[in-house]
Amino acid sequence: MDTEKRLKTTGAASLTELHATKEYILPDERMQHPVAVIECIEAIPCNPCETACPVHAITVGSEITNLPVIDIEKCTGCGLCVAACPGLAIYLKQKNYTKDLSYIAFPFEYVPLPEVGQSVNMVDRFGLVVCEGTVIKVVKIKRFDRTAIIHASYPVEQYEHVVNMQRLARN
Ligand code: SF4
Ligand code: SF4
Repeated sequence: MDTEKRLKTTGAASLTELHATKEYILPDERMQHPVAVIECIEAIPCNPCETACPVHAITVGSEITNLPVIDIEKCTGCGLCVAACPGLAIYLKQKNYTKDLSYIAFPFEYVPLPEVGQSVNMVDRFGLVVCEGTVIKVVKIKRFDRTAIIHASYPVEQYEHVVNMQRLARN
């Protein structure tokens, strides 16, 4: 499913398309804390990720259509780029959050928001449910008040596939 060329037809890149792009960097088990993963592989004029980063870990450069490149060694995992990206194309990820669980923080623009400790359905780049996750934290950054950042854990086997959670039903 995730091996097809999808970017031009759905707006979301498949793993095959991401893997073919040198700018796509997936942190491995050596990273001891969550860092930014950027899934932005279209040459569009955009750079809020670069300007939002307080430690200059993201570079777009003087040509604004360059693809953003992350230096994961510099990234502190603050999450400002996640909230700043208008394309919702950045997550924080850590592969080995625990022995069996990975960690993700992703932008979420829907209501209701989940509660800490709640079990939620984690989805892939095409909105398909791939596993269950547990919400660790719900953060709202004042500067980006329409986008919450949801932090969650989920099975390590789905590390690369999970990018968000399924919307919750309104009561
Ligand atoms: S998470 Fe923070 S430190 Fe890391 S790239 Fe994004 S803004 Fe920079
Ligand atoms: S802010 Fe988002 S959409 Fe814009 S260049 Fe950065 S990653 Fe891509």
